[in-house]
Amino acid sequence: MTDFSLALNDDQLQIKDWIHQFAVDTIRPAAHEWDEKEEFPWPIVQEAAKIGLYGVDFIMNAMADPSGLTMVVAIEEMFWGDAGIGMAIMGSGLAAAGIAGNGTPEQMMEWVPQCYGTADDVKVGAFCVSEPDAGSDVSNLRTRAVYDEANDEWVLNGTKAWITNGGIANVHVVVAAVDPELKGRGQASFVVPPNTKGLSQGQKYLKHGIRASHTAEVVLEDVRIPGRCLLGGKEKLDAKLARYREGGLSSGKQPAMATFEATRPAVGAQALGVARAAYEYALDYAKERKAFGKPIIMHQAIAFKLANMITQIDAARLLIWRASWLAKNGGYKNAEGSQSKYFASEMSVKVTEDAIQILGGYGYTREYPVERWHRDAKIHTIFEGTSEIQQLVIARAISGLRVE
Ligand SMILES: Cc1cc2nc3c(=O)[nH]c(=O)nc-3n(C[C@H](O)[C@H](O)[C@H](O)COP(=O)(O)OP(=O)(O)OC[C@H]3O[C@@H](n4cnc5c(N)ncnc54)[C@H](O)[C@@H]3O)c2cc1C
Repeated sequence: MTDFSLALNDDQLQIKDWIHQFAVDTIRPAAHEWDEKEEFPWPIVQEAAKIGLYGVDFIMNAMADPSGLTMVVAIEEMFWGDAGIGMAIMGSGLAAAGIAGNGTPEQMMEWVPQCYGTADDVKVGAFCVSEPDAGSDVSNLRTRAVYDEANDEWVLNGTKAWITNGGIANVHVVVAAVDPELKGRGQASFVVPPNTKGLSQGQKYLKHGIRASHTAEVVLEDVRIPGRCLLGGKEKLDAKLARYREGGLSSGKQPAMATFEATRPAVGAQALGVARAAYEYALDYAKERKAFGKPIIMHQAIAFKLANMITQIDAARLLIWRASWLAKNGGYKNAEGSQSKYFASEMSVKVTEDAIQILGGYGYTREYPVERWHRDAKIHTIFEGTSEIQQLVIARAISGLRVE
């Protein structure tokens, strides 16, 4: 019996090495500068596009991998390089996942490439769900989508908050309420095509970490989009709404939640890459730095900290790989996607904090990268479902009850 295996295939090993090298040569050396500038790193994303790491082909190939592992292996390496630049490269993936998760094959073919542009003319995409008054509580979106039958157009109005690539994106995927009484089940996803009138960037947020990633408000004022921009199509939406109106609120998935469920192990892999970066740095440092006449790693307090760090890192990777595999092979049974994201993000915050401790005073300064890794790790316990929301999802899955 040799069915169970954690071995990556040759393609995956090659991709892992290739991205690692890009992280060493291009991402890491640029990390400090873009963190300080707090601007979107267009030149680095262009470099990634030139080698085929940023683009529709890469994302489609990674998504199509039947083992589910290629994407998370790739992300771990990228975020090992830097999380802010990693997010700049991966942020469009959320818009692509929103289109792939809710759209028809034709809509995917039309819009996903426009989230990336070409190597010579790089573009980004944005996935707009959260609002000033609705982050975790995505069933209470205020952004409205109203159908104008005479013109076969949808009209969107509302404000989206904390949107990655918001306002700088070529394609914005917007989740809006069509029938607010149905809460999350009355929502639909729409593509707002490039240069559509009425969509504008609100405030750009200044952030604690992942500062190279652009995060902003997106304001939608009488945004008119053609009927074909409703992901999944009108017939499917009408049938779905009729079903929920008859059957109450008890069944069916919310479009935003479907996207987030699929991308959770990937977010876990981001946190994992950051944690591994900090662990490796702290391990090397602990072997070099001397206190009381010996390398600090010879003090059990430091050696045990490092032993705990690598154990937690490896445990997170196993949860992420399991969830990624399950997502492609039969689906989650006990919210394994949430388990992986929850564990990896909390682990990353703890491991990066331990790394600062191991570096002592140097670790607290911006001359060394570990304080940046700690700031970067923290976002993972907040976006795409906070740690509390992940626990709620897991609790509901294991109990079969609507734990509040
Ligand atoms: C850098 C960054 C990038 C982002 N990118 C995007 C993006 O691209 N697209 C997008 O749509 N959104 C994005 N977000 C938004 C993000 O997903 C939300 O911030 C997140 O979901 C939390 O929502 P909130 O901020 O409204 O917090 P709240 O929902 O107000 O939560 C506040 C606190 O209350 C807790 N809480 C809430 N409800 C419960 C409950 N039922 N039980 C227990 N605890 C609860 C939360 O866990 C949290 O600790 C981004 C955010 C940031 C900071």
